[in-house]
Amino acid sequence: MDHSKHSQYPSADKTDSGDTGGSSGSHRAAASVMESWKEERTRSVEDNEMSLPSLAAAYTTILRGLGEDPQRQGLLKTPWRAATAMQFFTKGYQEKIIDVLNDAIFDEDHDEMVIVKDIDMFSMCEHHLVPIFGRVHIGYLPNKRVLGLSKLARIVEIYSRRLQVQERLTKQIAVAITEALQPTGVGVVIEATHMCMVMRGVQKMNSKTVTSTMLGVFREDPKTRDEFLTLIRS
Ligand SMILES: [Zn+2]
Repeated sequence: MDHSKHSQYPSADKTDSGDTGGSSGSHRAAASVMESWKEERTRSVEDNEMSLPSLAAAYTTILRGLGEDPQRQGLLKTPWRAATAMQFFTKGYQEKIIDVLNDAIFDEDHDEMVIVKDIDMFSMCEHHLVPIFGRVHIGYLPNKRVLGLSKLARIVEIYSRRLQVQERLTKQIAVAITEALQPTGVGVVIEATHMCMVMRGVQKMNSKTVTSTMLGVFREDPKTRDEFLTLIRS
């Protein structure tokens, strides 16, 4: 992994932007998210159909505001296409974590670290509405329960296909796994490129933002954490 900004991982919840208030609040934050994820679904397929015309109209306004002519041949269908695309980019609002977990949690006497790394992630920066993309690495130490491996990627998908900041995305994934499995520990590391950083401002092509959330033994035991970080780098 090649990070131009940071060469080492933080030991707890941290981000390289350094503005999210340190690591001491993570257990409390975990508790507050805890009861919400089981119910959350803020959009339905019907909502998509209903809101498509107004979304498309908004994109027509954007085109005009940019000095373009929405009647120009190449742009005739653009508002509709852009609206449909934006709904797809945010389809995580249509799903609930609980639906993914149904029938996917198994009792298993496995107590070795489970790691799934290099999960592709595409999200949208909630400050600029432009893409964030990168890779997610997840590890956990089971405590009698394991999750179907493909479900880890599905959890990433649901939370990333929403308007996000990388720090929250990282924590939501870790908390969802913690609640679902009550494992001995969980570690989530995300390395991502923010188009709002790459295309504007400093325009650093290769700058990556690395965030991590460590819970349970991943937070408390440096050996466990190091094993995880070494395995996701190998
Ligand atoms: Zn941004």
